[in-house]
Amino acid sequence: MPITISTKTVDREFTKKIEEISGEPLTKCMQCGTCSGLCPVEATSDVSPRKLIHMVTLGQREMVMNAKFAWLCVTCYLCELRCPRGLDIPKIIEATRQVKLRSNENFIEPFEIETVMELPQIAMVSAFRKHTA
Ligand code: SF4
Ligand code: SF4
Repeated sequence: MPITISTKTVDREFTKKIEEISGEPLTKCMQCGTCSGLCPVEATSDVSPRKLIHMVTLGQREMVMNAKFAWLCVTCYLCELRCPRGLDIPKIIEATRQVKLRSNENFIEPFEIETVMELPQIAMVSAFRKHTA
């Protein structure tokens, strides 16, 4: 899906915040797509790691905040192992989650999970750590 960018939606502070939290210089990304080719989640998600980084670099805060990809990333580090520019992509993805969580917004609401008694405890603890503020 192509990304439609409007200059009205560019938020440079958002890009700087992601760089600050992750410690990764986003301009190093050359959009080669190697990370997307390796990512086990990309095929079933709304965007790819390459696209997410592109959106962050272009200051598209709302697009990034509305994308599900960062929450589905399993932090397997395959992308980071092969990135030709040495970017720590999982750190960038974690930074996008942090921006949402720091604004006190949860990705999942624990009290809205109806099947809570059927799920393994360890999975619940892990999900709450990653997806709630
Ligand atoms: S592999 Fe690295 S340089 Fe290539 S698109 Fe992904 S983050 Fe950018
Ligand atoms: S760490 Fe996340 S983005 Fe990178 S390959 Fe694994 S699932 Fe995909």
